[in-house]
Amino acid sequence: MHVSKWLKPELSNAGLQADVLRLDLLHPILSGNKWLKLQGWLQTFTEKKYSGIASIGGPWSNHLHALAYACHQAGIPLSAHVKGNAENPTAMLMDCMTWGAEINYYHGDTSAHAGLASKEAEAENRLWIPMGGDGLPGEQGVTEVFHRLNLSSYEQIWVAVGSGTTLRGMLKAIPPTITVNGISPGINHSSLLTTMQGLHDNLVFHPLQGRFGKITPELIQFISDCYTETALPLDAIYTARLFGYWLHLANNSKLKPGSRHLLVHTGGLQGNRSVAALANLYPALQ
Ligand SMILES: *Cc1c(COP(=O)(O)O)cnc(C)c1O
Repeated sequence: MHVSKWLKPELSNAGLQADVLRLDLLHPILSGNKWLKLQGWLQTFTEKKYSGIASIGGPWSNHLHALAYACHQAGIPLSAHVKGNAENPTAMLMDCMTWGAEINYYHGDTSAHAGLASKEAEAENRLWIPMGGDGLPGEQGVTEVFHRLNLSSYEQIWVAVGSGTTLRGMLKAIPPTITVNGISPGINHSSLLTTMQGLHDNLVFHPLQGRFGKITPELIQFISDCYTETALPLDAIYTARLFGYWLHLANNSKLKPGSRHLLVHTGGLQGNRSVAALANLYPALQ
């Protein structure tokens, strides 16, 4: 697994070391934490002899993108449920169609639709994967990979949280002496925290302010600066929020001088195609 140093110029002043776990480099297309979660789900698929897979996500879903590619590679029929209609598909959906996924558009309430679609999938002997690759098999995929990493030199590990699947999977593998920080740019913080209970002795949860997915000019500037100064590409929804927040703590002397930190890059770069100002920042955005 690739670990690189984050050489943001202001960090040497603060006497801090940040390493980046580059999950975004795992695979050119199927990158990031969605790859880890899918390992667990694909294992379930094989063991239970399903005839296909069905799942759900938004029009820029990193999960559906990774899943569609994985299914294409493995010859697994995929039915993807997406809110909206067939006009003007996003670049993400175009990719999924190129890889042979059948897109089922729906309207109305997402959790109600997910309930129906999962029953339908069951009736057709298709494996239903919840939004984002959430669920125990997804967690197990993450846990297996983190078990194999030697993390003992770090005092603190930092990761962005959506459904919390990745964080839960990590908590099961990371030694209790290391502090694990979950940075959540989403909503439902308290119900998310409940799902973490009892998994780790040293979990710190950081709910961020602001609407989920809000892209400000400052955020775009930060992403662009990071790329220019440190050659690190960040996605606008999760990793840029994580790195920006961590840097803010570092710059405000909230982190112990000399301490070692590992920031997990969970990938998601394909989603930057939804932001015009970021669409062409990186050479090969899949
Ligand atoms: C999906 C995603 C997350 C959130 O992962 P969860 O397992 O849902 O918490 C974080 N970062 C990126 C880039 C993602 O695409």
